[in-house]
Amino acid sequence: MSLLRIRGFGHRYGARRALAPMDLTLERGESLAVLGPSGCGKSTLLQATAGLLEIGEGTIERGWQNLGMVFQEPRLLAWRSALDNIALGLKARGVRRRERRAAATALGTRLGLSAADLALYPAALSGGMRSRVALARALAIEPDLLLLDEPFAALDIGLRHELEQWLLRECLRLGCTMLMITHSPREALRLADRLLVLGGQPGRPLLALQPALRAT
Ligand code: ADP
Ligand code: ADP
Repeated sequence: MSLLRIRGFGHRYGARRALAPMDLTLERGESLAVLGPSGCGKSTLLQATAGLLEIGEGTIERGWQNLGMVFQEPRLLAWRSALDNIALGLKARGVRRRERRAAATALGTRLGLSAADLALYPAALSGGMRSRVALARALAIEPDLLLLDEPFAALDIGLRHELEQWLLRECLRLGCTMLMITHSPREALRLADRLLVLGGQPGRPLLALQPALRAT
């Protein structure tokens, strides 16, 4: 079974069309970048995939067990340490405290977060550190599908490239499938092996390329 199978899915908010009916299939381990101008329906597609929208037209079949999500803003819990934020999904899955702290520490360490960083609360972390914590939180549950909505758009170029490389490595390690929104064609080529460009008429696919070159 495919990890994701979208058939004829389209969406309106009230009378306004946000996305024209479209098909999309993702196999395990693939990575797809969705590009296109603001307002073309990229977030709508991502939210529908995540199950956060009521599906009016078409069908979405979901073949994954664990979903990880990363947004442009880190959306951390302010009253929990960085470590506890990373371990949140593990806690929800009933992983014992000692094990989830060990897993979160190992992941944070790979991402360049020291034990001292991990003890801090989000308000005391820099923007870059918060982004690392948000990425680590999404990966901690070892997702088989990772949805990313412009996760690096607010970061400086050096950090972006560092986190992109880390993300690629971790996804390859986990065999995780990636569906990512980005406004950067270059970032898309670095991270994805397929590109979907939305735009033109409201919510119409302009272009679907596969396989694209994965820059390494
Ligand atoms: P993108 O992510 O490509 O910028 P979106 O999926 O966010 O596009 O939005 C597609 C269209 O739907 C836009 O015209 C946007 O204004 C509209 N839209 C998005 N969310 C809502 C909402 N909750 N209510 C009404 N209109 C919305
Ligand atoms: P985008 O995806 O927004 O096009 P890129 O990440 O490809 O951005 O890089 C944007 C620009 O920054 C490019 O011109 C690139 O050559 C330059 N650049 C790439 N890496 C670095 C770096 N480590 N430090 C400074 N500039 C860089």
